[in-house]
Amino acid sequence: MGKIPDVEKETSDLHVTKDHAVVIVGGGFAGVAVAKRLGRAGVDVLLLDQNSYHQFQPLLYQVATSQIAVSTVARPLRSILRREREHVSIRAARVDAIDAANKTVTTVDGLTYRGRFLVVASGAEPNFFNTPGAEEHAYPLYSIDDATRLSSALLGALERASATRDASNEQAKLAVAVVGAGPNGVETAGAIAENIRYVVAKYHSERFAAESCEVHLVDMVDTVLPPFSKASQKYTRTQLENLGVHLHLGSAVSSVSATEITLADGTTITAGIVIWAGGLKASHLLGPAGFTTGRGGRVDVNPDLTVQGFPGVYVLGDTANITDAKGRGLPQLGSVAKQSGNWAAKNIQAELCGKPRSDFEFLDMGYMAMIGRGKSVAELTPRRYQLQGPLAFLAWLGVHVMLLSGWQQKIGAVVSWFRDYLSRSRPQVVVHQPEVYEQTRRHGPTTEPGGPTGD
Ligand SMILES: Cc1cc2nc3c(=O)[nH]c(=O)nc-3n(C[C@H](O)[C@H](O)[C@H](O)COP(=O)(O)OP(=O)(O)OC[C@H]3O[C@@H](n4cnc5c(N)ncnc54)[C@H](O)[C@@H]3O)c2cc1C
Repeated sequence: MGKIPDVEKETSDLHVTKDHAVVIVGGGFAGVAVAKRLGRAGVDVLLLDQNSYHQFQPLLYQVATSQIAVSTVARPLRSILRREREHVSIRAARVDAIDAANKTVTTVDGLTYRGRFLVVASGAEPNFFNTPGAEEHAYPLYSIDDATRLSSALLGALERASATRDASNEQAKLAVAVVGAGPNGVETAGAIAENIRYVVAKYHSERFAAESCEVHLVDMVDTVLPPFSKASQKYTRTQLENLGVHLHLGSAVSSVSATEITLADGTTITAGIVIWAGGLKASHLLGPAGFTTGRGGRVDVNPDLTVQGFPGVYVLGDTANITDAKGRGLPQLGSVAKQSGNWAAKNIQAELCGKPRSDFEFLDMGYMAMIGRGKSVAELTPRRYQLQGPLAFLAWLGVHVMLLSGWQQKIGAVVSWFRDYLSRSRPQVVVHQPEVYEQTRRHGPTTEPGGPTGD
């Protein structure tokens, strides 16, 4: 490609630390794809993320349920981009403000960076829809921090239920409610139910697992997996019920407390742990950045992924409302984010060379969800070829191994899945909240570090 023009320097009442050809906010699927492609082409890039690592969200629920290690879903950004390190600078810092008109980004430590191009790929945040008590009491599952916090809370609650039952109260229970029966909620509820059926039963007792542990899945919509076909929904529902998951569909959650959730139809469900998979909204940075936000708080982008009225600015992945060639809105998926990142990089390269940008073409591979071992649903390609059961499970495994970044992460996941499948042991223990574990230890005479999901 041709010589990259210098970034225009302006007077610095903004305290701009350094100008770059491209400044990227967010090292998720979209941001990493942009950085990799541009770095390889020799373009000067600054990638900013609040973490020094890239996190693989699709498997967070497996970290929370002790199936895989944190190191499987977290990979240092410097490792991912080590081949591009001459051209890609990385800064682990939380971005506090974006000025889309000036293409500047300010981090919490007060440093401001400006790009000739600005790429916003800061992902999504949980949307609690102002449900009373939800933000305070429910566990979201959108980051490694969330997953480790939930893992620790689950282990603590399980130990407390076990110790209380042993010591005094036969009624003591571990009750978990998952809010949202989309793919994330289904996968999380299925994994916890399997954990109870196979792992808790093995480490505690079958009686304790059967009588004292419950999983509830709740959704305002009257089906599981709303975007999937009726056949996939039916299969998923049956498999969840076979695993013992209690389904509460067709009634919204109206409040969440520390001990229960209440539904709009008046039902109350006792649950010491509530997991929120009930919705997403785009990063809070977008509105104050000067963008007009649309559905889900996201930015409606042009077909070439730029933003109307902000030349040189691209918004990607979960922060954008992206449409396909037929004008249909694309879902918030890793595949959309990654492909939009690659496409934006291509358009930036074209702009740098004075060539025209092109419209994003999405390669639709379909979608899938895992319910438990050997039990998945997949609807592949735009024709939505349907797979269920072991074949879909294998497709799910293959796609996730492919999507994971890094050989160590891929091998780690495969080894964990084999071990889990063959031995039903879950040795990945994360204790993120010492106070939760301390509380558990104070409550129960039978507590051992590692707990029921530990080896
Ligand atoms: C639990 C769960 C399961 C999922 N399962 C699947 C699945 O099976 N298949 C699938 O295709 N998709 C799945 N998705 C969706 C997929 O993970 C997202 O669509 C994808 O991660 C979006 O990529 P992104 O690059 O837009 O944003 P993200 O991957 O969210 O990356 C955003 C980045 O921005 C950083 N960031 C955010 N705010 C700031 C800030 N203020 N300062 C600095 N950095 C910041 C974050 O740290 C993060 O690294 C799942 C999502 C979740 C939450």
